Amino acid sequence: MKPVRTRFAPSPTGYLHVGGIRTALFAWLLARQNKGAFILRFEDTDKKREVEGAREHLIDSLHQLGLDYDEGPDIGGPFAPYTQSERLDSYQKWAQKLIESGRAYADPYTPEEVQGFREAAQKAHKPFLYRNHRPENPPAWDGTKPLRFKSDPKAYDWEDAVMGQLHTGPEVVDDFVLIKSDGYPTYNFAHIIDDAEMEISHVLRGQEFLSSTPNYLNLYEALEVERPVLATMPHVMGPEGNKKLSKRDGAKDVLDYIRDGYLPDALVNFIASLGWNDGTEQEIFSRDELIAKFSLEHVHTSGASFDERRLEWMNGSYIRALPLDDLLNKVADYWPEEVSDYPAEYKKQVLGLVQERLKYFSELPELTRFFFIDLPVNPELISSHKHLKKLSIDELRDLLQQAQASLEASDFSLQDLTDRLNNLLEKTGQKPAVLFSLIRIATTQSPASPGLADSLAVLGKETSLRRVKAQLNQLN
Ligand code: GLU
Repeated sequence: MKPVRTRFAPSPTGYLHVGGIRTALFAWLLARQNKGAFILRFEDTDKKREVEGAREHLIDSLHQLGLDYDEGPDIGGPFAPYTQSERLDSYQKWAQKLIESGRAYADPYTPEEVQGFREAAQKAHKPFLYRNHRPENPPAWDGTKPLRFKSDPKAYDWEDAVMGQLHTGPEVVDDFVLIKSDGYPTYNFAHIIDDAEMEISHVLRGQEFLSSTPNYLNLYEALEVERPVLATMPHVMGPEGNKKLSKRDGAKDVLDYIRDGYLPDALVNFIASLGWNDGTEQEIFSRDELIAKFSLEHVHTSGASFDERRLEWMNGSYIRALPLDDLLNKVADYWPEEVSDYPAEYKKQVLGLVQERLKYFSELPELTRFFFIDLPVNPELISSHKHLKKLSIDELRDLLQQAQASLEASDFSLQDLTDRLNNLLEKTGQKPAVLFSLIRIATTQSPASPGLADSLAVLGKETSLRRVKAQLNQLN
């Protein structure tokens, strides 16, 4: 068996959204599962589309997700360089080989002439094929004209590791450009050379390349190189499920998710689940489980749709599984400056209260602000409250004074607070939606908080009473 060598071959044309990085993840999983190698290669032969900073950004995305590669542009390896624009000699060498074997020719036509052929085919209701216009005596190729592949049209039957058995007729095989007039190879040519030279065993890539595959099969034959296993990934669809996920659907950069406080393991789990499962109902997979269980045969043949709510849910479940000490370390950068003065024990108590509902870390400042600072009394919280707005100032003041008296006598243990709050309900004859909301607003200045008794116990007696007093002052 040949060693498994997979590659991720992005073009440095922008950031990676979750759909784009899924191919990298699957290729990585396959390599790790088989103790093979995972290779990063930059396909930068279309200089016009290149985006400044995209290379660093792609590398950072892989690093942040923990998709380590064994060979690549920045780390080298036995088949360096791993950047196509630095491999032009290679493409020239293989192009010469094709010229010598009569399988490539200089394209003598101007764009206007090609356009003429195209229109003529259209008029005749025939598909346009370059190979119907092969020049009889092509000029010698001097690099100023495109170099075209001289195809050998035939039907193909081949096995795609995801899509299964595929069949095409000879009409889809055509003479495509190998080297452009600017001296750079096309993707169609360069990736085949690179995959062969880099001894890639499995090519995983998006569905958009499927229609060109018969041309690639033809080229493998002409070059007399062994073709790797081909595995076509179905599109990741947008949230509606009816079109390919795009940046316009809010398909954020994976680094934005990292910045928002999504855990790399949760992102990896989520991305793996876009179009793959192990055939059971299981949804949460650790990285090691993914490595052990991944298989191309279980990649779905139709598009998976991207559902950000599901990602939030999944990330939340990874957050809930974290021991408090880990959680404390991981959220350090998300909390504002003033939080750093508080002791770790206090912060852990706060985290213990919000861990259950936290979906990603950047929500934390908003959810926990009141544990660290006295927010100014906001009268609107009462005047816009569904139940409280119906009470008079006197009623509100009376209720809050009763709460104040009871809290003053409390030792602020969770048990004592729970008992006292329940007694107050009985004594005042109010519903929790009224009484507890009022105390919650007074002590947190927030419309929602974790359980009231829990929050009060963490805030402590002094802070809680200081805030009740501030609210009473405002009511007066
Ligand atoms: N450079 C191609 C792209 O970014 C990669 C296709 C492939 O993996 O072969 O779409």
